[in-house]
Amino acid sequence: QMMPVGLLLGLLLAGLVFWVMWRQTSMPAMIRTALRQDEFSMVYQPVVELATGRWVGLEALMRWHRPDGTMVSPDVFIPAAERSGQISALTAWVAERVLTETRALLQADPQFHLAINVTGDDLLDGRFHASLSTLLQRHGVAASQLIGEITERVFMHTGQTGAQIHALRALGMRIAIDDFGTGYSSLAYLTRLELDYLKIDKTFVDPIGTGAVTANVVSHIIAMAQSLGLTMIAEGVETEAQADFLRAQGVQQAQGWLFARPMPIEEVRQHMAKGAT
Ligand code: C2E
Ligand code: MG
Ligand code: MG
Ligand code: MG
Repeated sequence: QMMPVGLLLGLLLAGLVFWVMWRQTSMPAMIRTALRQDEFSMVYQPVVELATGRWVGLEALMRWHRPDGTMVSPDVFIPAAERSGQISALTAWVAERVLTETRALLQADPQFHLAINVTGDDLLDGRFHASLSTLLQRHGVAASQLIGEITERVFMHTGQTGAQIHALRALGMRIAIDDFGTGYSSLAYLTRLELDYLKIDKTFVDPIGTGAVTANVVSHIIAMAQSLGLTMIAEGVETEAQADFLRAQGVQQAQGWLFARPMPIEEVRQHMAKGAT
């Protein structure tokens, strides 16, 4: 009577092991194929000035639509590409694609900015700033319009990032610390590194206005960013109450579904042509 149950559990376990192995071995192959067969695309989320609602820039976000109709979340394939050593290839693809798609918008307004997500491997590559510089020149885009977003976790796991950040800023690029507050790292690096923007993670925006104790944390993050002279961008703003609070606290910029969702470049162009900025 107990045998079938044991057998079932055994099969289940074996299945799980095979699934995990299959995922690990096939993901790098899937990413290679996706690059070759153009399965990746970019969407852009507007960054708004909280005081006016004006669009001041865009964040480029990667999308993966598979031929079978399914979508793979960047929260899945970006970490996978980091583990398999393929992330630099993805970043290179992103940089080329976003400059092709946004150069006209950027050239039309020298104040408008474009943010791309940069990873630890990119910063460990000593030639990263040089290849970006070549790319910017080829597309006729000013480095000062490009923001590199680096997550706080990168500073915990990767040493030697300060030199590459310095090189990027020497080009004229700006640096944002992304997902701030989620990395559990020491705050010492904040004073050491050359940063321009601090992106307040959605985790700290969510509890605003709910009366939860955690709602107070955001005020401390804001005070710290102010004392360091960083421009703040709140992420994941979904309600008017959150926007009002952040505005009152002196947060300059925000992104979130309240203002606009990430969208293909054609939609960005249509909005901007209608005077959304
Ligand atoms: P991130 O850089 O912190 O991007 C913000 C994420 O929050 C995006 O998720 C965006 O779609 C989502 N978001 C924005 N506003 C709201 C909101 O109001 N509510 C909610 N619920 N979500 C909102 P997405 O596009 O799924 O990207 C997830 C993460 O994947 C990004 O976090 C980034 O770390 C990574 N990622 C995406 N594209 C790229 C890329 O091209 N390169 C690299 N290296 N990483 C990327
Ligand atoms: Mg980001
Ligand atoms: Mg973020
Ligand atoms: Mg994030």
